[in-house]
Amino acid sequence: MTTTDKCHPEIPKSNKINDWHGDTYLVHGQLAWQPRPGFVSLSTPVHRASTVLFDSCAAFYRRHDQTGEAWVYGTVGTPTTKTLEHQISLSEAGHCEQADTCLTPSGLAAVTLVYLSLLSAGDHVLVPNNVYDPSRFFASSFCKRMGIETSFYDPLDLAVLAEKFQSNTRLIWVESPGSLTFEVADLPAIATLARQQNAYVAIDNTWSGGIFFKAFQFGADVSVQALTKYHGGHGDLVMGSVTCLDSALAQQVRHTRDTLGIAVSGDDCVLILRGMQTMALRLRYLETATLEVARWLSGRSEVARVLHPALPDCLGHAVWKRDFSGSSSVFSFEFAPHYSAQQRDVFVDALRLFGIGASWGGTASLALPINPNKTRMLTASKAFAGPLVRLNIGLEHIPDLLADLEQAMLSLQKTS
Ligand SMILES: *Cc1c(COP(=O)(O)O)cnc(C)c1O
Repeated sequence: MTTTDKCHPEIPKSNKINDWHGDTYLVHGQLAWQPRPGFVSLSTPVHRASTVLFDSCAAFYRRHDQTGEAWVYGTVGTPTTKTLEHQISLSEAGHCEQADTCLTPSGLAAVTLVYLSLLSAGDHVLVPNNVYDPSRFFASSFCKRMGIETSFYDPLDLAVLAEKFQSNTRLIWVESPGSLTFEVADLPAIATLARQQNAYVAIDNTWSGGIFFKAFQFGADVSVQALTKYHGGHGDLVMGSVTCLDSALAQQVRHTRDTLGIAVSGDDCVLILRGMQTMALRLRYLETATLEVARWLSGRSEVARVLHPALPDCLGHAVWKRDFSGSSSVFSFEFAPHYSAQQRDVFVDALRLFGIGASWGGTASLALPINPNKTRMLTASKAFAGPLVRLNIGLEHIPDLLADLEQAMLSLQKTS
């Protein structure tokens, strides 16, 4: 490097910087340069960090002090991740100052973080029968290995649930509406039982996006979101959140997350923050479109039942009507019992606009063959007689979706 490097026009001329070699500029020049203040845009900047710098040794020693205000390390928080955490707290808990949110790298990681934060060996957890399958698997396998006892309960039978509490029950898990079959649980009644037994109530609130159901107003202590779904909204990323109403509980969750070294990317956070700006609008459209499709299916002779919380056939519909302010884009339907699982697959394969795939909440419609009888070991009286399909409705033009479903129904007739 020549001495002209010392006169680099973009680098302010402090004495210190003027003494640097060009190679050193490459590393430190961008850190030493401060943009002119006053820039304001509509988006949240992406902060990327492993290392976080401290002013002094004294500041470094203070980093874990009680206030929790210090920036410590990339995994435990940046201005970007904190902005999203704050935004989720607002969405889930309104302006409750005590509420606090922890981000996780997926919705499933948010679910498992709740189990890991609130339960210890010797504790007992109650999990609903219609829970998201990976959550069931975590409770019945991983928790068991950790010495945590799990019982499954029917979310529609609270008399039996009351008898399932044990002296060591620490947590009752709720998912409402339930995965795949969409039964709506009476959260206030479940929360009352839990209070009597000194157990926490955690809800997987993903279906409502936290928009159509304000879990904390109905007795939850913890609300989980798979931000992958409506917050992201475009099927292009995964993230989750755990929001606690009480700051001591939130501290417990945060401590567990940081101990496990679970962290999220700032780039993904800004995509979620962007998705959230259109989330209410998307959900309102999706509610209308999905109801139109669900009602169309209800009128078809091939269909025995539509499992959608806003339709009277759905178990827990009255509770949905009482507690929810709307319905979202994912629901299931059951074919009449004389259709076989193979015919159901012919129907799903014949769909052109509906992709076959897991997850939901994005812009594209999806279909999935499902079999709750198998995973839930349902008794004969509660088992589904016909094969089921889960649909996610996207942002396509509604008549195009109906036409696609109709042509797939026609292909089904050719098989019978
Ligand atoms: C999708 C989903 C999850 C998991 O979210 P991922 O980000 O896909 O891990 C958890 N709970 C419910 C109810 C979900 O639908």
